[in-house]
Amino acid sequence: MNNDFEAEIKSKILDKIEEIKKEIEILKEHSQPQGLDNAIGRVSRMDYINNRSINEAQIRKNLAKLKGLNNWLGKLGTNEFGKCIRCGQQININRLLFMPESNHCIHCAK
Ligand SMILES: [Zn+2]
Repeated sequence: MNNDFEAEIKSKILDKIEEIKKEIEILKEHSQPQGLDNAIGRVSRMDYINNRSINEAQIRKNLAKLKGLNNWLGKLGTNEFGKCIRCGQQININRLLFMPESNHCIHCAK
């Protein structure tokens, strides 16, 4: 892996981290109970509870992605970066950014 490529990947990972952090912030805001006071009449309490659990699931998913991204970031520049933990093949970079929580290549993930 050459340095230009490495720098490019690094900025992509950092962008993604920022993106996910913002998304988590937005989801957290929407999970706040005070949202209920501002809700337009028709939004029932059930809807609110449903939305909140969807938000919380989404937050957990994003936190897992964040962890994965930080993990890859820490391995950047080492031989371990982007390697599937099962077969050792280089994981496609788009997959890596899209599903950073996975340590498997697309073949082994099946
Ligand atoms: Zn694999």
